Amino acid sequence: MTRVAVEVQRCEGYGNCVVAAPIAFDLDDGGKVVLLRAAVADADQAAVTAALRSCPVAAIRLEDE
Ligand code: SF4
Repeated sequence: MTRVAVEVQRCEGYGNCVVAAPIAFDLDDGGKVVLLRAAVADADQAAVTAALRSCPVAAIRLEDE
């Protein structure tokens, strides 16, 4: 499993993470990222890594467990 964290205050609502990994990220009505799960299975790690790389403001962090 890989732990996922977001810094909501950094998020500017580009939505790149939602496109890359809809299993883990969504946007709220205010356009801020919502973390849908705090840990992702190995099968979803590539998508979440793509989300991290696609975030223009580096608001997403991953930590291996
Ligand atoms: S890609 Fe980054 S800035 Fe865009 S919604 Fe996701 S966390 Fe927010």
